[in-house]
Amino acid sequence: RPQCGHGRALKRRPTISGERSMAKLTIRNAIKRYGALEVLHGVSVAAQDGEFVVLVGPSGCGKSTLLRMIAGLESISDGEIEIGDRIVNDLEPNERDIAMVFQSYALYPHMTVRDNMAFSLKLARRSRQEIEQKVNDAAAILDLTALLDRYPRQLSGGQRQRVAMGRAIVRNPAVFLFDEPLSNLDAKLRVQMRTEIKTLHQRLGTTMVYVTHDQMEAMTMADRIVVMRGGHIEQIGSPHEIYDAPANSFVAGFIGSPS
Ligand code: ADP
Ligand code: MG
Repeated sequence: RPQCGHGRALKRRPTISGERSMAKLTIRNAIKRYGALEVLHGVSVAAQDGEFVVLVGPSGCGKSTLLRMIAGLESISDGEIEIGDRIVNDLEPNERDIAMVFQSYALYPHMTVRDNMAFSLKLARRSRQEIEQKVNDAAAILDLTALLDRYPRQLSGGQRQRVAMGRAIVRNPAVFLFDEPLSNLDAKLRVQMRTEIKTLHQRLGTTMVYVTHDQMEAMTMADRIVVMRGGHIEQIGSPHEIYDAPANSFVAGFIGSPS
């Protein structure tokens, strides 16, 4: 059985049944055009195995577009996306070995927590036994075991967000994608959920790409930060590197470094 928090030592290895090797993500010269309008101008970045990469930048700079391209929810106009040694440009979202957590929790209101988490596995025609095992494992990791028979309306905002993460982790993806998952939460809960997501990351050891417009979120959560502006990357580095040696005045101003 997976160990579940509460003072026990965190495991670095995935605890979801049917574990498999981790993969990294590479984006090469990604361009996105909507008709004549180019919104990503050739973005290149890689996330190493197990790395927590935060994409940060002002509203409209192309963070969601890049994430949705990785997920396969938007086509790529030019360039390449590689997930775990496969070029995925032409693969459907469900073939890409990713799972995405959105800001609107997008839970099914008429389904229990258990059924919300089981849904994608049922679609994928996994066995009953496997589904039950994976849902129970995910619930234990996320401290949702006591809430499995509740409906979303009976949950707090933070609990709903954990169910949304549970739906992602039952699928055991190589890469987790988060698009501003905390922006609907109040300030206190937001800070608490940062820690919960980082704990989840330590537990699963999976590559995660996390989008936010919040500098503090980026600085406190990231292994590496990718600072974007206007459809391109201004700087990539650890929080320390970005803060101590911003590449230019935009990065300094955005991150709030002394300049
Ligand atoms: P962010 O997530 O950083 O706020 P987005 O990726 O949502 O930015 O948007 C980047 C740019 O692409 C914006 O200028 C936005 O208006 C434009 N954009 C996004 N989606 C579309 C679309 N479907 N059609 C045309 N332009 C779009
Ligand atoms: Mg966005």
